[in-house]
This record gives sequence, structure tokens and C-alpha cells, in this order.
Amino acid sequence: MAGKSEGPAIGIDLGTTHSCVAVWHHDRVQIIPNDQGNRVTPSLVAFNETERLIGDAAKNVMAINPTNTVFDAKRLIGRRFSDPLVQRDVKQWPFEVVCGANDKPMIVVDYKGQKKRCVAEEISSMVLTKMKEIAEDFLGFKVKNAVITVPAYFNDSQKQATRIAGIISGLNVLRIVVEPTAAAIAYGLDKMFSSSDKKNVLIFDLGGGTFDVSILTIEKNTFNVRSTAGDTHLGGEDFDNRMVNHFVEEFNRKHKMDISGNPRALGKLRIACETAKRNLSFMLHTTIGIDSLYKGIDFECKIARAKFEELNMDLFEECIGHVQKCLMDAGMDKERIDDVVLVGGSTRIPKVKQLLQDFFDGKELCKSVNPDEAVAYGAAVQAANLAAQGCDEIRDLVLWDVTPLSLGEAIVGDEMSVVVPKNTKIPTKKERNYITCRDNQTTVPIEVHEGERPRASDNILLGKFYLSGIPPAPKGVSKISVCYDIDVNGILTVTAEDRTTGNTNSIVVSNVTSILSDDEIERMLKEAETFKLEDDELRKKFEAKNSLENYVYRIRDIVLNKNNAGEFPYSEAKKMEDKIKSTIQWLDENRVTEIDVFEDKRKELESMWGPIITKF
Ligand code: ADP
Ligand code: MG
Repeated sequence: MAGKSEGPAIGIDLGTTHSCVAVWHHDRVQIIPNDQGNRVTPSLVAFNETERLIGDAAKNVMAINPTNTVFDAKRLIGRRFSDPLVQRDVKQWPFEVVCGANDKPMIVVDYKGQKKRCVAEEISSMVLTKMKEIAEDFLGFKVKNAVITVPAYFNDSQKQATRIAGIISGLNVLRIVVEPTAAAIAYGLDKMFSSSDKKNVLIFDLGGGTFDVSILTIEKNTFNVRSTAGDTHLGGEDFDNRMVNHFVEEFNRKHKMDISGNPRALGKLRIACETAKRNLSFMLHTTIGIDSLYKGIDFECKIARAKFEELNMDLFEECIGHVQKCLMDAGMDKERIDDVVLVGGSTRIPKVKQLLQDFFDGKELCKSVNPDEAVAYGAAVQAANLAAQGCDEIRDLVLWDVTPLSLGEAIVGDEMSVVVPKNTKIPTKKERNYITCRDNQTTVPIEVHEGERPRASDNILLGKFYLSGIPPAPKGVSKISVCYDIDVNGILTVTAEDRTTGNTNSIVVSNVTSILSDDEIERMLKEAETFKLEDDELRKKFEAKNSLENYVYRIRDIVLNKNNAGEFPYSEAKKMEDKIKSTIQWLDENRVTEIDVFEDKRKELESMWGPIITKF
């Protein structure tokens, strides 16, 4: 933990398009303006013959130096070059991105007359350095400690890469905090600390490159993330791109020339479109005018708000779909949401607000937090809290994060036995008990999987280990408990214990999300939805089978105990034991039969054994 001598800790919202820095200063949060007097700074870095420019200075030269002005580093960070989303982006960007070693994307720019290759972490570190300097100029001394925010949907590799960017910029990263939690802190400080009510808050964060929706329950100073959903590739820039494509077609129609392969023309058009889009949040019509867009041709064209909405309607609706999903994951009806908090510049778009308000049956959306500053605000509070520099009010802040996907293991019949369900708050510790499934089984494999499908092999295998040295016994006699322990940093340790001998074995599955890229997570979640019907059927089948299996083993335990205590006639016990054995064998041979068959079998056994068990 940082001490006071190191100067105040800052909070940095490292956004895709804009970054914002804040500090806890004189017992309140202060958003720090940059050298231009702006409270947010473009996340841009430009390279030229003589210098490197960051922030507003880079934005000013973007139109004239598009191939060397790098933006969207956040869309690249922690991703592979072959990632389809990276491939899609690379085609849109005016700057060059090539494949480096280990499939790492490398940005190529001309700097001081030479080709310079850099990774996304370096670009982000330059932006972070700028934010650090902005804070230092304001505070009048050096800053070392910082909290940096990332989208809730960032996987471990993206979080780690962001942390590395912080380290490259000379910062000591106290914690990586997820953006919606930071925004909720801003909301909470404003609303909650004075009241003792419990509130369910939906944070709707639509920025430049990402969309996050999270539901949190806030009670006094405890922030509990209930569920989170979104898309790491949905935001203002996608809306800009739709408009750019529209005008490329328009230019082609008017002048019979295709400018889609010309980075300079596209760069100019993109800047004009972004301005037009912002204007359309306040006006019903606007005009874009670009001098000498291509081959000396000036371009002027009108666009109506309605057209802009039509171009993007499917994307806006996608946002509402994620809200629905987030509610479903939290197991909440929309009526239970007390406040809907808007975060991110793109929530200024009237249609987005209208769709969201309609979805919540006309409910007023919360306007108490500044959509551009809320994330940095919350990060500054958390930074002060971690560095023990805040006032009492914020000292005991408790933040709970959740697991993005379910964790569990493969059991007989390739069934996914979920131990830690999706959206469980971490840190957490959960235990599950199993029995051996073969006679004289001395080794049990533990295969840890992540995903939502009922069949384990349809999910991702995180790791595998064996618990051996189990004393030989008939199947179902040896009991094994498996414990999943996820710490505050998301590190999962799975331990298996033989209950008879106390023997244990365990593995550490590095970070829970590190195995998957976020598009893999998204793909799996989408797939899980598509296959939901099929999966429900399979789940019911597994339930029916387990119910029968558990019943048989329970009866066997009862019979054994009663027999040992001399309470059970041997002949009855023998008859039952034979039936139990044949049922277990039948179960082994009919793992995936019809639900009715399992249920009928259980009913048959219940009516046969029920009276015997109660009699003795
Ligand atoms: P990020 O956190 O991803 O950097 P921000 O929250 O800073 O994003 O939001 C930036 C996005 O918001 C940009 O795409 C920008 O064009 C958009 N934006 C800002 N103001 C408006 C507005 N008035 N109307 C529509 N979009 C806006
Ligand atoms: Mg943001």
C-alpha cells in the first residue's frame, strides 16, 4: 500500500477515444484539466519528422498526418493479430498494423525519418504518461501511484497489458478497476453515503469503442457487481464508421470515385463525421463540408438525425439486448432497477436515451453523474482509498467483482458439474462432493472447465490434474471433495481431497479469464444462447440421471449402516444390494437415455424400497 510521502494517488480512465484523470484533493474529487483547459484528453499519439505528440496536440494534426496518428490502442491491447476483430479494425484504420512475433499486433509509424514499430501497450503508456503529467502540473509534485480503469468485459490478458502500459509509463498501478464499478462509486458518493437504503443500479456505459452494462447493488459503502454484459467492440466509432461508409457511397454516387482506399480522405471524412454526429445530438440536421477531400474535390453534404439513426439502429438495439441479458443474468426484473446511470459520450445520442427509457417503461434516466468524468471520478476515490489518503467517508469502500463465466468440472458422461456459477462475486470459495464411479478406483481425474454448456467438452478446458492414492473400494464408496478458491485478483486454485485419507492435490489455474480472449467468451455466450433449448433438454436429462443415481447411493448407505448395526435382515440386504448393483450397471450403460426412463426407474425403485426402508 502506498504511503502519504509518495504524493496523492490518481485515478485514470484510459478510454478508447478519451482519457480523464482525477485526484482526491482537499476532501473531494477533482477532475484535472489538461494544458488546453480540457477535462478529457484524446487518447491519441502522433509521430512526425521531429516529435511525438500526445492528446489534443495529436488530434490537431490528425487530418494532415493520418497514417502516423495512432488511435484505438485500447482496441488492440491484449489481443492477437489474428483475432477477427483486430482484422476488421486494421482494415478501417489509416495507420499500419502488422503481425509481430507470437501473433502480436505491431503498429508501424514514420518517426524522425525512420520506421518505428510499437505495440499497443506502448501507445497506451504514452497516453498514461500524458495523464500523469497533467496531474503533476496541477498538483505541483511527482505522482507515482494510480488506479487505472478497464471495461468490465476485458479479459485477463487485456487487463495485464493495461497494467504493463501503466508500468511502462512509470506508474505504480495500485489496482485495475472495472469502469462500471468506478462509475457506480461516482454515483454512490453522490447518492448513497448519506442514506442507508439498498439500491440496484444499472450502469449503461456507451463510449467510443466499448459498451459495458453492469448491474450493481449498492448498500452504504459496499458495491456489489451482480452481473455484467456488453461488447468490447461497440461504441461511438462504430457509429462514425457507419456515417463514413454512407458518405463514401455518396461521394462515389456524385463523383464516380471510390475513396475507400485512401487513408487521408477517410481520415478527413471520419473527423467530419464525428463532429456531425455530435451536432446531431442537439440538432435535427447538419452539414459536413470538407475542402479538397479527394483529388481537389470539395465535398459538402447534408445529413439528418433520422438518417444517422437509421444507419445505426441495429447497433442501438444491440445495446438494449445487452441490457436485457444483464438483467436476466442478475435474475432481476427491470422494475427492480432503482436507477439507470448513463456513462460515456455516446449516451448523449437522443435515440439511445429514448430506446433505453422506453425499455424501462418511461423511467427517468439518472443525470447526476457526468458521463465523461464518472469513471475517472470513481477511480480517484478508489486510488485515495487504496493509498489511505481519502477521508473516513471513503475509507471503507468495499468492491465486489464477479466471474464472467461458470467454472466447474467434467464428471462421468461428459457432464459439466458447475461449482462456481457465472456472475458469482469474487473472492469466493465453493466446494462440491463427488463419489468414485468405478470399483477399486484409485485415481480420479479433475478437469476444470469454463463455460455455460451442459456438456463439459463443449466448454473450455482450463486445466487437469489427478487425485491418486485412493484406497480401493467399491464404486460410490470413496468420497472426494473438490474446492474452488478464487482470490481477489481472480486467481483460481482447485483442490481435490480424498475424504477418507485426507490426501489432497491441487492446481492453480493462473487467472480465471486468461485462457480465453473476450471474443471467445462472447462467442461462447452467444453459442450458449443458440443452443439453449438443446442444452435445457440435456440438463434435465442429467438431473433425472443424477436424481436416480443419488437415490441409489443413498439407499446403499442406509442399507449398509442398518446392516452393520444389525437392524436389517441379511436376506433383504442381499436382495437390495443385488438390485443396487444392477441399477448402477444399468446407469453406466445408459448415461444419456430419455428423461422418462430415468424417472420411471426411480419411481419403480422408490415404490419397491420405500416400504422396506421404513419397515426396518
Ligand atoms: P471512451 O471511454 O470509449 O473513450 P467516451 O466516453 O469518452 O469514450 O466517449 C467518446 C465517444 O462519445 C466518442 O465516440 C464521441 O464521438 C462520442 N460523443 C461525445 N459527445 C457526443 C455527442 N454529443 N453525441 C454523440 N456522441 C458523442
Ligand atoms: Mg469510457
